[in-house]
Amino acid sequence: MKLTLIKPTIGRREHSLYVDEGRMEPLMLGVLAGLTPPDVEIVLYDDRMERIPYDEATDLVAITVETYTARRAYEIADEYRQRGVPVIMGGMHVALLPEEVAHHADSIFIGDAEGAWGEVIHDARRGRLKPRYVGAPGIGQCDGSLPRRDLYRGKGYLPISLMQYSRGCRFACSFCAVSQYFERKHYLRRIDDVLREIESQERRFLFFIDDNIASNRKALSELCSALIPMKVSWISQASLDVTRDAKLMDLMQRSGCWGNVMGFESITPDSLRDARKSPNMAEFARFSREIAVLRDHGMQTWAAFTLGYDHDTVDSIDATVDFALANKFTFAAFNILMPYPGTPLYRQLDEQNRLLYGKKWWLHPEYRFNQAAFLPTRMTAEQLTDACHAARTRFNSLPSLVRRFSDIKTNLRSLSRMMSFWRYTLLFRKEVYKKHRMRFGLK
Ligand code: SF4
Repeated sequence: MKLTLIKPTIGRREHSLYVDEGRMEPLMLGVLAGLTPPDVEIVLYDDRMERIPYDEATDLVAITVETYTARRAYEIADEYRQRGVPVIMGGMHVALLPEEVAHHADSIFIGDAEGAWGEVIHDARRGRLKPRYVGAPGIGQCDGSLPRRDLYRGKGYLPISLMQYSRGCRFACSFCAVSQYFERKHYLRRIDDVLREIESQERRFLFFIDDNIASNRKALSELCSALIPMKVSWISQASLDVTRDAKLMDLMQRSGCWGNVMGFESITPDSLRDARKSPNMAEFARFSREIAVLRDHGMQTWAAFTLGYDHDTVDSIDATVDFALANKFTFAAFNILMPYPGTPLYRQLDEQNRLLYGKKWWLHPEYRFNQAAFLPTRMTAEQLTDACHAARTRFNSLPSLVRRFSDIKTNLRSLSRMMSFWRYTLLFRKEVYKKHRMRFGLK
C-alpha cells in the first residue's frame, strides 16, 4: 500500500505563485507517518514549495487542513478524487467544521490521529474506508512512535526541529480554537519519549510547538530539568503568567530556552477582558513587570498581538506598535482578530450580524489574507486591515530592526543570538509583505 501525505499552501499572490521561504517542518504529517505501519510506503508533498504530482500512483491521500488552507485543500482533494484516488482529511479545521470538509473528501478524521489511525490504514488496505473516523483529543505519540523526519529531506525547511511535549491549554481565550478543541485540558507526553526523540535527530535547536507549554508549570519544570543535560537550545509558545514563577524562569533559562511566542494580545485592559485573556490580566501595568522578567532571563520574545476588539481604534493600534518598539521585542505579530468557526468569538459576531464574506471568510473568493473578516465597532473593516498592515510595516522597518537588535540582554547576548536575529527577522519581514492580501487557493 502507498500513502501520500499533503501539506497544502494557503494560496497565491495576485501576480505570481507564492513560495513560503519561512516554511517549517510539517510536524503533524511526520507524526502521522510515524504512526503508520512500516510496510506502508509513504511520500510527502509540500504544496508550499513543490508541485503535487497528481498522476503518480497512490492508494490513499491524507491532507491536513487548517482554516487558512481549507480552500486550497479542497482543490487538491478534487484533483485526486477526479482521478479515482480516495482522500481522507484531518486537522483542526475538520474538528471545527466536519460537515463542510466531508463534502470534499471520501473520509474525514476528527480528532487526534493516535486514537484511530491504525483503523484507517486497516480499512484502506481493504478498500473499505469509512466516511468518518474519530480519535479523542489526548497525549501525542502515546504509542512511543517518533516522527518520520526522513520525509522532510530536500524540502528546504528552516533548520529547527519541531516537536511537541504537550497538547492543549487550560485557559479559555474567546478567539482560540485550541481551547475549544481540547476543552481546556492539557495532555502531556512522557518526558522519556521526548528525550528519545531529541536524541533520534541531529539538531540541537528545537521548537516545541505546544499550544501553551506553560499551561502546567510543574510539568514544564520537569521538562526543563530533563533538558539541562541535553545541552539544547529551544523556543516554544507560552502564556505570560509563567513570568510570575521565578524558579521556573531560572530553570527555563538553564535548560536552554531562548524565548517564546507570547500572546500579549492587547495593551488595553478592556480588550483583554473581551478576549477573556486571563493569564494576562493580573496586576495589569502595561506588562512592565512581565517584560522585565523576560529580559532578565535573556528571553527573545515573539510578541503576538490581536487587534480589532470592540475597544480598539486606529490610534490604539498605533499605540500598540509604539509599545512593541519601546520594548524591543525580537519579533512581533500584529494579527487581525479572526473569527474561527466554532469559537465563542465567531458565535458572538454571528449573533450580532457582524460577520463578513458570507460568514465563511476561509472559502470566499473575495477574501484575501490579512483582511478583517468582520465589522469592528470603532473603525471600518478596511481601516482595521490597513492599520494592521501599517503596524507591520512600521515594526519591520530597517531603523526599527537596528534599534531592536541593540538590546544587550536579549539579542546581543551571544554571537548565535545575533546571527539568528538577523536571519529570522529579515526572513519573516519578507514573508509579511509577500503574504499581504494573498488569494486563498490557486484557482
Ligand atoms: S493562552 Fe493561548 S493557547 Fe491558551 S486559550 Fe489562550 S490563546 Fe489559546
